[in-house]
Amino acid sequence: MTNTTDFQFDTIIVGAGPAGLCAGMYAGRGMLKAVVLETRVPGGELLNTEKIEDYPGFESILGRELAERMTAHAKKFGAEIRQATVEGIHRLPDGSFEVKTIEGDVYTAPTVILTAGGTPTKLEVPGEAEYAGFGVSYCAVCDGAFFRNQTIAVVGGGDAAVEEAEYLTRYASKVYLIHRRDELRASRVLQERLFANPKIEIIWNRQVLEIEGREQAGMREVTALRLKDTVTGAESRVAAAACFVFIGFRPNTGLIREHFRHDPSGYVITDDRMMTSIPGLFAAGDLRAQLTRQVTTAVGDATTAAIAVEKYLADRRSRVSVGA
Ligand code: NAP
Repeated sequence: MTNTTDFQFDTIIVGAGPAGLCAGMYAGRGMLKAVVLETRVPGGELLNTEKIEDYPGFESILGRELAERMTAHAKKFGAEIRQATVEGIHRLPDGSFEVKTIEGDVYTAPTVILTAGGTPTKLEVPGEAEYAGFGVSYCAVCDGAFFRNQTIAVVGGGDAAVEEAEYLTRYASKVYLIHRRDELRASRVLQERLFANPKIEIIWNRQVLEIEGREQAGMREVTALRLKDTVTGAESRVAAAACFVFIGFRPNTGLIREHFRHDPSGYVITDDRMMTSIPGLFAAGDLRAQLTRQVTTAVGDATTAAIAVEKYLADRRSRVSVGA
């Protein structure tokens, strides 16, 4: 028979990327009974990143290795990490939460920290998955520095693509911005900066058909993009050492059943303690509305969230003990 206490926690952390693992570590240090639920192997977006060079204390570390270190660190301080796929988070009338998994388990806790990240929209073309982390990237800040003095491509025409293309010119010698129409969606001010940048060349009306690459000395690398003219249908090829894709990003917030405050793009709005508009539900990392989304900001959010959870639980206990 299942022991129900196996599914009762002080806090349930949904997602084991950097935010979830850091929240687990802090919750464990705070002597909370915490569980981190993760569908796959712990690590989140770190596992899709070859090298990380902007995490303080590590001039250069493989994403996979940082993920392993964060996992071991969280476990050392008592966080339990379970492989489970959450299908829904529901607030009960007493203010606690029920977290259901597709495996059929029901976890309960007075608090939940949502660290389920987000999913960059994919081009869904041949080569994209094969070279992800080896020249195909969804994060300019994470990977731009690997392409110093090289020619690279950015795909997209919105604010993200235009802003990141501009950012990437600090490393790359040339940046092609490839857009499927003859007009950008990005705001005027960003467009003007883009047009004025001599390192950027816009390739209008092109759809990416394939990301081509090769394997050399055991390392995969991107070499070119195969394109199709969206007006004439003509095919062409452009040489590039990397393909940065910015065609949209979807925060993974579909698990929350109740209404919560979010910005127009669906990112979760929190207060300065990382609490959402649903009391007891906290959010940290890439799904939170904020200026930037980095490993460092994810762990910062998570630290605040875990400490805020401790205070929230203490307040809740004192309210219960005075019969409020
Ligand atoms: P977005 O505004 O939705 O733009 C996505 C871009 O990708 C569009 O140009 C779209 O082309 C293109 N696209 C979509 N699917 C494609 C596909 N399969 N193949 C090729 N191109 C494709 O997304 P975003 O740029 O990520 O921005 C999301 C939100 O964040 C926006 O509200 C944006 O304003 C905001 N944001 C703001 C800033 C800032 O203010 N500094 C920075 C980043 C993001 P079409 O134009 O043809 O549809």
